Amino acid sequence: MGGSRSIWVGLGANLGDAGATIKAALQHLRKAAPRLQASSLYRSAAIGAPGPDYINAVARFDSAASPEALLEHLQALEQHFGRTRPYPQAPRTLDLDLLLAGDEQRTSARLTLPHPRLLARAFVLRPMAEIDPHLQLAGRPIGDWLSQVADQDCTRLPEEPGP
Ligand code: AMP
Repeated sequence: MGGSRSIWVGLGANLGDAGATIKAALQHLRKAAPRLQASSLYRSAAIGAPGPDYINAVARFDSAASPEALLEHLQALEQHFGRTRPYPQAPRTLDLDLLLAGDEQRTSARLTLPHPRLLARAFVLRPMAEIDPHLQLAGRPIGDWLSQVADQDCTRLPEEPGP
């Protein structure tokens, strides 16, 4: 387990069958990290731009891979799943964000860690708290951050009954 630490990934989709896309992306991540923990699915209103609601989830797994390698893997998955390619620059059906890689910090053109909007988004904080209610973020319990985004529209979806 040398160098292995907790990796947190945020997933979002608001085009096509967003819930199915998120579940399929989680399955792909699980191939590389079989012990991955996934949150429930959440529905949140689009922020900053008009559009359909988003379906969101968060995944946590252990990895020793570099943040850059992890981001490359996530971007390859976005390409694989996300792009419907109806026209250049079309909206993506899948957005994957590297939220945290242990306590590593980065500020480069390609990668900022922790993810810059992590502490401000209910659709990230709520699923994170579901996986680890005792998580500390920026030196404070996640509950403190959650109370600051309590007004944001973000609902946990009920589990679907199995087939
Ligand atoms: P977006 O379209 O909002 O998903 O942004 C994607 C761009 O953000 C990519 O070019 C990434 O290189 C960059 N980026 C910077 N930090 C991160 C991060 N922590 N996770 C994912 N993408 C990031």
